[in-house]
This record gives sequence, C-alpha cells and structure tokens, in this order.
Amino acid sequence: MRILANDGISKTGKEMLEAAGYTVDTEHRPQDQLAQAINDGGYEILLVRSATKVDNILMDACPGLKMVGRGGVGLDNVDKYHAKNNGIIVFNTPEASSRSVAELVIGSMFTLSRSLHDSARNLTQDDFGKLKKKYSNGIELRGKSIGIIGFGRIGQELASYAIAMGMDVFAVDLEDKEVIIPIEIYNKVIEVPVMVRKNFDVVRYCDFVSVHIPKQPNGDSAITYGDIELMKDGVIIINTSRGGVVNEDDLLDALETGKVAAAALDVFEDEPKPNPALLNHPKIFATPHIGAATVEAQYRIGTEIADIITAVYGTK
Ligand code: NAD
Repeated sequence: MRILANDGISKTGKEMLEAAGYTVDTEHRPQDQLAQAINDGGYEILLVRSATKVDNILMDACPGLKMVGRGGVGLDNVDKYHAKNNGIIVFNTPEASSRSVAELVIGSMFTLSRSLHDSARNLTQDDFGKLKKKYSNGIELRGKSIGIIGFGRIGQELASYAIAMGMDVFAVDLEDKEVIIPIEIYNKVIEVPVMVRKNFDVVRYCDFVSVHIPKQPNGDSAITYGDIELMKDGVIIINTSRGGVVNEDDLLDALETGKVAAAALDVFEDEPKPNPALLNHPKIFATPHIGAATVEAQYRIGTEIADIITAVYGTK
C-alpha cells in the first residue's frame, strides 16, 4: 500500500512502515494539488498533521483513499463524518503530545514571569541599563497558583509539572470530580488528589490560567471578556489549545486595561497568518503552534501511526 505523509512523519515512524512493506512518500503537496497527487500516486492512506485539510471535496475527488491519519490531537482539519459515510477510516494520536504541550506551558510561564520574550526582543548594548530596570519586577513560580481550564490529558500532565514545582493547582472541567495526579520523582510515585470543579469560580484567584479545552462546536470562543473579568487582576493567561478558544480581541482589550498582565499564545484564529497585533504585543509571548513539536512527541506520533496502520492492514 502507498502512503502519502503530506505534513511529514518522524524518521522512526517512516522506517517502521517501510519495514512492514508500505511505501511512504513525504513530499508535501499544496492543498490545491493534493487530490491529483493522491490519485496519480495511487495513495490509499493519507497522513496529515494540522496543516493539510481533508474535507469532503478532497475525499470525493479521491475514490481510492481508504484511511486518513492525523498525527496529534483533534480532528478539526478532517471531516470525519464525511469519511465515515464513505467508508474511510480516520484516526488520530491524542496521547502522544500531552507532555510536550504541558512543558511548553511551563516554559511560557517562566518566560512571562520574567518578561524573557520582551527582554530578548529588545536588548541592545545601549539599552542594557534601561532594560535591567524595566525588567526588575519579575515573579517566582513556586508558591503561585494556576487555574487549569480543561482537565483532560494535557491539563492533567500540566498539573503534574505545576504541583512538582510547588504551585497550587485549581482545575475546571465539565463535571465535579477528584483526579489523582501521579508525580514521579526518581523511582517513587507520589499521588496527589486534585479537586476538579465545573464552576469557573475556582480560577478567580489564580495567578496563572492555562486553557486546555477543544474548540467549541459552534466555533465561539469559550473564554471571553466576561470570563476574564472574573479572574484576578494581573492574571497571566496561556492558550495552547486552539486559536480563538480565548477570544483574541477580548484578550487584547484586557491587556490594554491591565486586567491581564501578560499572555502566551501557541495557537491563533488566523493560522498561519495571525493578527499582527498579537504577534507584536510586548506582553504576549507568541509561538507558532509548536506545542507538539518536540523530537519525543513526533517520535511517539510516528510510531503510534505505524502501529495503527499495521494493526489494520497488517505487514505486507
Ligand atoms: P482532552 O480531550 O484530553 O481534554 C479536554 C478536556 O476539556 C476534557 O476533559 C473536556 O471534558 C474538557 N472540556 C471541554 N469543554 C470544556 C469547557 N467548556 N469547560 C471546561 N472543560 C471543558 O484534550 P487534550 O489532549 O488535553 O487537548 C486539549 C487541547 O489542546 C485541544 O484543544 C487540542 O486540540 C489542543 N492541543 C494543542 C497542541 C498544540 O500544538 N498547541 C497539541 C496537542 C493538543
């Protein structure tokens, strides 16, 4: 069988598939040439990440397509209902990237708590003394509180890092429950219970709020100005979930008034051309949707994809 990995696949994943007898092509085809490339190349399996869109038009134009694999979490760019109706198998690899996204959040908190992004952006010899003064009011993370909105895979992984760093964790999800977070230290595992609440109020007093919920089915932002108003004055907000889950205009307004002290965004409404007001803002640490872009996560994604394909179609 021939596989087109249009947004790439890790070297190990490719090697595993080739060893199992599959042909794997990783040459990226632009969206408008993709259908022809799939048909001409006789590809039966299409692998994508977040860049390539697999909509009904593409599927209808490619009658030989049997399977679509999305490396990573979410299937926003794949029309899974149309696929199901047309007998095309769709899968993703939701577990593989949680740790990498959680680590990006931790990195973002350290960055914003000391204005590292703005300092690195502005530092020149001339401004050294001036900037030393400007960035002299950083804060420590130990002893601070973090509100985690969406306590699924990434939210829980983030909690394990935050607890281990000495932060207080407050979690919001769709129902009240207790979740046990295992913290691994050397060869010992300490289990820490976290109370999860459906009432948003638990994040009211948090120094940091990190958002880990999927895009709302109607496309609306889950966190708007009204929600931000309920948060602590000077809160730091991090969104690594999906663009617009935290309303971008409302976030800019809240940064303007000082309600929000700073924000980190890994995801944007208008990817790959986000609103420049967000990218250029001195209080925003922006990254280009790199939550899962680590060697380890890509390795896990690639091997999981290879395992799923060989489990369905076997070794050739
Ligand atoms: P998950 O499904 O494991 O967890 C999401 C949680 O959010 C669930 O527990 C769900 O009950 C909860 N939830 C949904 N709507 C809610 C609401 N309105 N209020 C409170 N809780 C709500 O998902 P995950 O694997 O933890 O991923 C979380 C998000 O991160 C997704 O949007 C995913 O697309 C995104 N993500 C981003 C990157 C990146 O590169 N930045 C990488 C992986 C995942």
